[in-house]
Amino acid sequence: MQKRMNEQELLLSFKQAMTESHIFVCYQPKMNYATGRMIGAEALMRWKHPEFGLQYPSDFIPVLEKNGLLPEADLAVLEMVCRFQRKCLDENIPVVPISFNMSRYDILQHNYVGRIEQIRQKYQIPVRFLHVEITESSAIGGAELVIDVLKQLHCLGYTVEMDDFGSGYSSLNILKDLEVDVIKLDMRFLSKGKTGRGGAILSSVVQMSKWLDTPVIAEGVETIEQADYMKSIGCSYIQGYLFSKPITEEEFIQKLKQVDHEPVQPAINLIETMDAGKFWNPSSLETLIFNHYVGGAAIFSYQKDTGNVQVLRVNEKYMKELGMNMCEKDILNSHPWEQMDEQNHKIYENTLLRAIQSNDEESCDTWRVVCSKICGEDRICIRNSLRMIGRAGEQYIFYTLVQNITAEKKRFEAISDSERKFRFAAEQANIYAWEYTVATKQMRPCYRCMRDLGLPPLLENYPEPAIELGIIPPDYAEMYRDWHRQIAEGVETLEAIIPLTVGRVPFHVRYTTEFDENHKPLKAYASATMVVDDDNQIPETEN
Ligand code: C2E
Ligand code: CA
Ligand code: CA
Repeated sequence: MQKRMNEQELLLSFKQAMTESHIFVCYQPKMNYATGRMIGAEALMRWKHPEFGLQYPSDFIPVLEKNGLLPEADLAVLEMVCRFQRKCLDENIPVVPISFNMSRYDILQHNYVGRIEQIRQKYQIPVRFLHVEITESSAIGGAELVIDVLKQLHCLGYTVEMDDFGSGYSSLNILKDLEVDVIKLDMRFLSKGKTGRGGAILSSVVQMSKWLDTPVIAEGVETIEQADYMKSIGCSYIQGYLFSKPITEEEFIQKLKQVDHEPVQPAINLIETMDAGKFWNPSSLETLIFNHYVGGAAIFSYQKDTGNVQVLRVNEKYMKELGMNMCEKDILNSHPWEQMDEQNHKIYENTLLRAIQSNDEESCDTWRVVCSKICGEDRICIRNSLRMIGRAGEQYIFYTLVQNITAEKKRFEAISDSERKFRFAAEQANIYAWEYTVATKQMRPCYRCMRDLGLPPLLENYPEPAIELGIIPPDYAEMYRDWHRQIAEGVETLEAIIPLTVGRVPFHVRYTTEFDENHKPLKAYASATMVVDDDNQIPETEN
């Protein structure tokens, strides 16, 4: 028989429940889904009323809470857990860490940690077998008290798990203040609402926790799909009905005997040279550099097998580089691949793979379409310098420096566009054209040059090949070499009549130099037009 008790009935029977063991503990195993081994269990309070039947915490805990009785009940649970662990230790039953719940009312109690420690010592339970679950909401209205309790617990060697992570508003920020050892992420807070967003939150929390080197346990996992999804984003610790409901002590002993167990492991190996955890410490030098680095910087994770990318952190300059009045939230919620077309996506992903392989900085320029509420859509070109700084299985953490080079790229696009037009025009007129790149000494001839002079599309170490091939006759060779030296020194235009080829046909040769914004010469555009007397016909160039 089961019937809900009202507040009055609850309060009247509480004392009796405590003395006559109507309040007892159920255990719910926590598993490693990847290995099938048990990593621990949670103690959950139950009340079996002789008259009203089994009562669930959701009904009686708020009443105990309201009447100041919860700390007493919680310590009773702890005592039952310690008694249970003692039994396991004494009877050679496998022992796993068991967590007990500490409510925010417990935290307000004077010397609550001292009372926990007293009970543990009474039963001589090694501290590694007891974990404390503190809910995220305990920090609402000020984290100081929780930070203090956390410190006390850590000093005594307790492992602290943050319960119900993801339920609160400022979840991610809280991680910076509360140095918990394990995060419990409740699927039920996130599976409701839009699935896409829930998924993004789950994976960013998992990834962020890896960054912090803090293992995550997903609770409330009811289906294989949920467990598979969590595993795919790098979280294989689960607790939920899928594996087991909370079970009685006797049932739990059976489970302990049947199932292997293993300790919880930190999830990621960060590359030693860089203490990435420091990025989360607001006063560390790394954070300072990250936040105040003159350029844009971001941290993101890349799942190699699925190709998924998730931005984890950006600095202020990053948002400025991307422009568009984007805020951090916009960027963290954006899907990087959706901003790139197939070709740019490929370039970027190949660079990531290169960086994984070389373990060094690799860079690429990619175009992306960014979209903000304020500015709408725009196409921008970003120069990305990428470095891998951590990995866990197929998941890699990257640090990237970004530079918006859209203006520069657009200028070059405009140049090459007008250049193309010019080349078309040159094909129509009786003009030979070529392009000389100052830094590389490369020459690119027009189609007509290639056709009439048999040139390849690219000539290295220009102008030497033109001299060797006899296009420039030997008596003009030194002058022509000097022109290219002058171009490199910044001369703007050059022109002369040069007799070209062994046929020594007079051509009007002109060079115009192109400069960058610092007036550094980049390229020279050259043309050769045949010099014709008014009464002469244009000679045929065929043969
Ligand atoms: P909690 O600490 O988040 O505990 C997990 C709750 O989720 C438990 O409910 C558990 O039975 C339930 N649960 C586990 N797996 C699944 C699943 O796959 N699907 C669903 N739908 N539920 C699942 P329970 O035992 O009813 O406890 C509810 C809450 O009551 C607990 O939430 C905790 O906040 C509080 N509570 C339970 N025992 C204690 C205790 O000893 N002390 C204190 N202070 N609070 C307790
Ligand atoms: Ca809990
Ligand atoms: Ca929970």
